[in-house]
Amino acid sequence: MAQNVLVIGEMVGGALAPTSKELLGAASRIAEGGTVAIALLGTGAQASAAEAFTFGATQALTSGDATYDVFRSDQWLPAAEAAIAQASATVVLIAQSMVGRDLGPRLAFRNGSSAAMDCSRLEMVGGKLQVTRPAYGGNALATYEFASALAVITVRAKTQEALDATAGATGATSELPGPGEARTDVVSREASASEGLQIQDAPIVVSGGRGLGDPEGFRLVEALAAAFGSERAAVGSSRAACDLGWYPPSQQVGLTGKVVSPDLYVAVGISGASQHMAGCSGAKAIVAINKDREANIFKSAKFGIVGDYKLVLPALIEALKQAR
Ligand SMILES: Cc1cc2nc3c(=O)[nH]c(=O)nc-3n(C[C@H](O)[C@H](O)[C@H](O)COP(=O)(O)OP(=O)(O)OC[C@H]3O[C@@H](n4cnc5c(N)ncnc54)[C@H](O)[C@@H]3O)c2cc1C
Repeated sequence: MAQNVLVIGEMVGGALAPTSKELLGAASRIAEGGTVAIALLGTGAQASAAEAFTFGATQALTSGDATYDVFRSDQWLPAAEAAIAQASATVVLIAQSMVGRDLGPRLAFRNGSSAAMDCSRLEMVGGKLQVTRPAYGGNALATYEFASALAVITVRAKTQEALDATAGATGATSELPGPGEARTDVVSREASASEGLQIQDAPIVVSGGRGLGDPEGFRLVEALAAAFGSERAAVGSSRAACDLGWYPPSQQVGLTGKVVSPDLYVAVGISGASQHMAGCSGAKAIVAINKDREANIFKSAKFGIVGDYKLVLPALIEALKQAR
């Protein structure tokens, strides 16, 4: 059955966010002849709409009002509802971002629907939309169908392929209402302490855990990431290591940390608790380095090295340097 899919877009520095391009790719695959619309709010909305057409959108609903630049759910919610009505949407896709986590359940409630959060697979099966998301802290995958007329879905970053850009593609544009009164305000914003490549964007993530024994162990983990190349690899951490103050909480991977889906995830001195795996199970390949051959992490790893990281990492670093 044809679906009219609405993507709630996001922008980074006034340009279309990579996650929005991924959502447009997913929307194009599940629309089955329906429309692919995108809602864009804030400075740069019109320019991002033009970009969105090249990534598969057929309709753009925009408001360039700068008040929307800061996400406030009580202002974004009416705009998103107006977009659903204008696009006659049957499916709403939002990134599993701060925006999606907040807006998704609210939109679902307002529309008498339910929200499937943090989905990694979207597929039309026999004319019905099926979505898959992690359950039980990432230990299982659950597949859902919607019983309601509208499906609200938040989607994990990097699980969907963006379409190749079609230069010169255009679509219909219409205006969304400007923002109403806000009942909340953002009093200050602090940039995350982490610099350089972010773990969510890195194709390679090297993470350290409590098995490093002390914060100094992270110097070796950082050296391994540097040997892969600082433009490709970033350093993550288990919660245990963050809680011990060995590494900044901004780098925590897991259920209560960041979710990463790199091509390669190297887990050093990490046991593989389900709450950690919830943040890295989307990696294309996991390499585990652990001195306990019974460690749970080896069940998820494509390659495993049983040994003391203090011996294994210098050898790996040397081998990478030779190979580069
Ligand atoms: C509600 C909730 C949410 C949570 N959220 C998260 C989360 O987001 N992220 C997260 O990571 N955890 C989370 N946790 C904690 C999680 O349950 C684990 O406690 C944590 O992941 C363990 O971290 P670890 O693997 O670094 O430490 P450990 O479990 O202590 O494992 C250390 C590992 O290092 C190995 N090791 C020791 N010495 C060496 C050596 N010299 N060389 C090589 N290997 C060595 C050991 O064999 C062991 O396997 C959460 C827990 C709860 C209850």
